Amino acid sequence: MASDTSKHVVEMRNIVKRFGNFTAIHNANITIGRGEIHALVGENGAGKSTLMNVLYGLLPRTEGDVLLRGKSVHFSTPNDAIAQGIGMVHQHFKLAPSFTVAENIVLGAEPTLAMGRLNMRRAETETGELSKRFGLDLDPRAMVGSLSVGLRQRVEILKTLYRKAEVLVFDEPTAVLTPQETRELFATMRQLAQSGHSIIFITHKLREVLAVSDRISVMKQGEIVATIDNKDVTAQEIASLMVGRSVLLRVAKDEAKPGGRTMLNIRNLTALGERGENAVHKLSLSVRSGEIVGLAGVQGNGQDELVECIAGLRQPAGGKIEICDKPLGATPADNRALGLAYVPADRGGVGLSLQSSIWENMTVGHLPKFKRGQFLSIGDARARADELIKRYDVRGATLDKAAGSLSGGNQQKVQIARELSREDGSLIIAEQPSQGVDIGAIESIHRILVEMRDAGKAVFVISADLDEIFSISDRILVIYRGQIVADLKASDATQEEVGRYMGGLETPIVDTGASVKEPARVC
Ligand code: ADP
Ligand code: MG
Repeated sequence: MASDTSKHVVEMRNIVKRFGNFTAIHNANITIGRGEIHALVGENGAGKSTLMNVLYGLLPRTEGDVLLRGKSVHFSTPNDAIAQGIGMVHQHFKLAPSFTVAENIVLGAEPTLAMGRLNMRRAETETGELSKRFGLDLDPRAMVGSLSVGLRQRVEILKTLYRKAEVLVFDEPTAVLTPQETRELFATMRQLAQSGHSIIFITHKLREVLAVSDRISVMKQGEIVATIDNKDVTAQEIASLMVGRSVLLRVAKDEAKPGGRTMLNIRNLTALGERGENAVHKLSLSVRSGEIVGLAGVQGNGQDELVECIAGLRQPAGGKIEICDKPLGATPADNRALGLAYVPADRGGVGLSLQSSIWENMTVGHLPKFKRGQFLSIGDARARADELIKRYDVRGATLDKAAGSLSGGNQQKVQIARELSREDGSLIIAEQPSQGVDIGAIESIHRILVEMRDAGKAVFVISADLDEIFSISDRILVIYRGQIVADLKASDATQEEVGRYMGGLETPIVDTGASVKEPARVC
């Protein structure tokens, strides 16, 4: 540890960061104590990453002071920050997959032999020792490309420790982890804090904030609006500080009353992935009217291919898909006619036409409704779009603005508004509905999905976010390696249990269709 006596290892004072004439950070103040786990929370776009990129020397600040161990510092590059003991673990790892763990750790900071040759044996020993000291359990000789995401993240952590980082910044580290991996990461964080390291943990997941941090700073629109001791605050209070008003964290809903209709029926579906592998393998599931079924799974277990098959964007290699008892149509328009409403995760690519106006994006696919004789009533369509902008609180929207000018969260609201306001939709497929969307808007999206369910529609939600799955679902399915490995009643299931299935730790093959009695066929 440093020998000076200043209380805070890091202090950021009156930081301002402008991009052109846009001010991303207004006068932010934050202090990080020694041995502290400090959570930095806030909605998307609040400025968390920008503030930390300033600390890490990735972005120059416009105004303000950064003090490290009481002394003013100016980092022009991350290398300057690293040399002073600051490390950052990014969401997207920057590792070389065809190198070993030890090679990745020492890359750029190699212990050399005479003549500049790399001393691999020393690198391996040092990597092994460091890994053991912090309980990271990494094999120095393992090839990074063969490691799970959780282990790769440990390599990133080890890399910063090898460079003697005293302050570690984690930017949304849990987004890519299973619940078990998240728990292990938290254990590592605690161990690091105990040995005197300071951790800045960026997240927007409130449960995680409360589980691991000592203090919490809340960022809102470029300012730190509060710094609080964990023990003095509830998730509800943090959410209110983030959003600026009180929000419901878990959607209020009654017990589902699934009707007799199977709106989505999938039997033995097989679909090939990009590399010709069986991304979806003999998968069966069904979703009935009046229920919300959540599909949980770690990204890359076949959920993308499954949804593409249902949406008619990918040709299955085998099996069948029925919407309302009718075989899947040949085109997305046919499926719409069958009653499918689809909210894709890839907003820019599939869901919206970014250069078209917001009113057109809001009403495309509903146009027959605005027919007046032979003609379309543009006025009616625009009035409808205007109503949807208000109802779904699409910030920054005007009818004629291009959809692409909105932030990601507001683009998501445009397509959700369009898809969910269709009266003829009886099956709603919502893929990552709240990804990139603020907590306040998540609340309204979830409420609308529950209203759809209560109106007798079948809702199928695919989400990588377990909090979302648990908040919204009546029934939870888990996909692992292209198969459904669990079918659980949401009110009885725990995140632990679902997490075990997601990580492949329990893999009974459940054919969710087999146990469901063939329902009456009255679509
Ligand atoms: P957070 O990490 O809290 O989600 P960011 O720090 O990424 O938020 O972004 C804060 C704001 O700054 C956002 O409005 C974002 O669009 C803007 N921003 C971030 N980086 C840049 C950049 N390089 N150029 C212009 N604007 C940026
Ligand atoms: Mg960020």
